[in-house]
Amino acid sequence: MDLSVVIPVYNERDNLGPLHRELSAAVERLGRSYELIFVDDGSTDGSLAELRRLKAADSHIRVIRLARNSGQTAAMVCGFQHTTGNYVVAIDGDGQNDPADIPRLLAKLDDGYDLASGWRVQRWQNEKLLRRWPSVVANQVISRFTGVHLHDYGCTFKAYRGDLARQLMLYGEMHRFVPAIAAELGAQIAEVEVAFRPRRWGQSKYGMGRIIRTILDLITVRFLSGYSTRPIQAFGTIGVVLAALGAVWTGVLVFEKVILGQPLAARPALLLAVLLLVVGVQFVSIGLLGEMLTRTYHEAQHKPIYVVKEEF
Ligand code: UDP
Ligand code: MG
Repeated sequence: MDLSVVIPVYNERDNLGPLHRELSAAVERLGRSYELIFVDDGSTDGSLAELRRLKAADSHIRVIRLARNSGQTAAMVCGFQHTTGNYVVAIDGDGQNDPADIPRLLAKLDDGYDLASGWRVQRWQNEKLLRRWPSVVANQVISRFTGVHLHDYGCTFKAYRGDLARQLMLYGEMHRFVPAIAAELGAQIAEVEVAFRPRRWGQSKYGMGRIIRTILDLITVRFLSGYSTRPIQAFGTIGVVLAALGAVWTGVLVFEKVILGQPLAARPALLLAVLLLVVGVQFVSIGLLGEMLTRTYHEAQHKPIYVVKEEF
């Protein structure tokens, strides 16, 4: 199989027919063998019946139906795990991405990149300023934080080298951080300008609630990419600094009490010193627990802490 296209679907009934038509036209032109993997993420609007209908008429289609709504990230990982293609393309099921861009994404893979990530340039030009700057800020923050600089982290329209897609393990809503996670696996990443169209049917599955969840996922990704194999260095550093401050401060207070004979009862400084000591020790302990978890995680699954690119 040359190409697997993965399409997560949650209540997109009326978008599926037009999308399938465009997709087929775009990939047929490539002249490569392909499969279209639709992952129905527990739709309740009749999307599944629509997929059955499409599948009956097109043998390139595979449909995987999840038992319940599990979220876009889970649907995508499920799709990736079922792919067999040398190349894998992920595209939204709502028709907001234009399948005609697929050849340009794949061309980047032919150039030697492992991941070609869509950049919805038009979205910026058409969007009102008020909706534009949160997105600009978000992309800058994520780029800084992860060290992988992209213009459009929100775009799930991407082409992957097959092994990379099948290697990805994503949790929460981490489909937004795929480039950062892929970079961690040593992937070479390119950005490709793609079209962006308004939704024609149905509605977006995300609201403002995504902001907090994205921040939390970002912290997780950042922590895991930097410290998952050495948690004591992250937690321990904080812990040692806090505990040292607490110890010095406690020393000063003891000196004042014992040598200078000043009463301590009404001094908030005492509370702070004790708090620093206790919290510092706790941070170090969390780091040590993390070290044990890391060993269990890697050794139980025989997962190395490195990624080999090639051997010769
Ligand atoms: N999606 C999904 N499961 C969910 C939410 C979304 O499979 O729980 C799919 C959805 O059907 C669409 C894609 O993920 O194909 C992107 O979702 P949406 O268009 O709502 O996101 P937006 O474009 O608004 O960021
Ligand atoms: Mg959408």
